Amino acid sequence: MSSDPDAFPFRDGTLHAGDAPLPELAAAYGTPLYVYDAATIRRRVFDLRKVFAESLPDDHQPMIAYACKANTNGAILRLMAGLRLGADVVSGGEMIRAIEAGIPADKIVFSGVGKTDDELAAAIASEIMQINIESASELDRLIMLNPPCPVRVAFRLNPDVDAGTHAKIATGHGSSKFGMPAEEIIQLHARAKAQKNIIPVGLSVHIGSQITDIEPFEEAFRKTGALARALEAETIDFGGGLGVAYHDGAPEPDLAAYGRAVATHLAPACRRLVTEPGRFLVAQSGILLARVLHVKTTPGTPILILDAGMNDLVRPAMYDATHRIIPVTQRQTPETQYDIVGPVCESSDVFARGISMPQCRAGDLVAIMDCGAYGFTMAGPYNSRPMPAEVIVDGARHGLARKRQTLRAMIADECLPDWMVA
Ligand SMILES: *Cc1c(COP(=O)(O)O)cnc(C)c1O
Repeated sequence: MSSDPDAFPFRDGTLHAGDAPLPELAAAYGTPLYVYDAATIRRRVFDLRKVFAESLPDDHQPMIAYACKANTNGAILRLMAGLRLGADVVSGGEMIRAIEAGIPADKIVFSGVGKTDDELAAAIASEIMQINIESASELDRLIMLNPPCPVRVAFRLNPDVDAGTHAKIATGHGSSKFGMPAEEIIQLHARAKAQKNIIPVGLSVHIGSQITDIEPFEEAFRKTGALARALEAETIDFGGGLGVAYHDGAPEPDLAAYGRAVATHLAPACRRLVTEPGRFLVAQSGILLARVLHVKTTPGTPILILDAGMNDLVRPAMYDATHRIIPVTQRQTPETQYDIVGPVCESSDVFARGISMPQCRAGDLVAIMDCGAYGFTMAGPYNSRPMPAEVIVDGARHGLARKRQTLRAMIADECLPDWMVA
């Protein structure tokens, strides 16, 4: 089962997305297939709003800017727009996608350490809500672009805390490339204030991803709140990072404590709060549906070889992530231990080792759970494997949110220089 018991339920022994049995979706759209459940996303948004409603005063309810790098599919963005969410974007491409999906520009925050001049110019021209500045050099570039209209900027604080998460997704320690120390922000804030059309509105902070211990948030928020008071900041954007329980027994964040940390350290220090959750809103809304190609017997643990690989879902190979993997059809076959792998020619193309599940056969369907965040968005065509299709389900309705890539489309942008053509 998913870590959200209401997402992807079993009915009559078959795993469902909304009202659709997954074997039906596999037959209609093929595998490997990303399947998203709209109801789960709505529930997650309501759950988060409830946390803030219960912990913060009415005039300090945060604007939720969905960190769309977690899942940029246009159907998901449209759903977020319909739920009146804003967006946190980290590239000019994400900014355009968010705007085209109907998210108003005045609810878009632009983060990231390496914005190009073109991206900054596009953000200025689109009159987005705010640009989160991550270095002195970036402020210089913005000043050089000489904005014709007021541009709101926030400075990203590096609070020098250990988020207690995987090293590859920690962003808040002093030696990371993200954010700036408080002393530097104080200088830049003053420099920005002296410019025409650059309006320093406050601070942003984001200490990493898949964080389940509230203490690092608490420490980061305390430091951010103190600096915000010193600067008399109007806005604090307190980032994303809330984790989800990917495997049985994994810790889940204490949401009430998270709300209290925001209420204690941030709400009293500014007039307006912004938050940038990504994973928390979408991880549990998605699965990667795959078919067993082969059951390979070995001298050791038997291996299930799936038609989905690390190119479709890179989190296990890249972050040592563990996802629950469950058979789509419940059977009374005896439990067996399996290693579960993809077909890609890399020894890191392993989804799970030694997990216990009912005996499987070639042709069986399995669901890799909690793949709605950093799943498709990090996928690629390595081994010349076409990008998987994406389907969105809403109750009784389902439909394609992205077609399966064809081989022709995959290679369409390749060309030969003149001198190689005979
Ligand atoms: C990635 C990112 C987020 C979202 O992180 P999650 O762990 O998915 O919530 C928020 N803010 C910034 C600046 C980011 O880079």
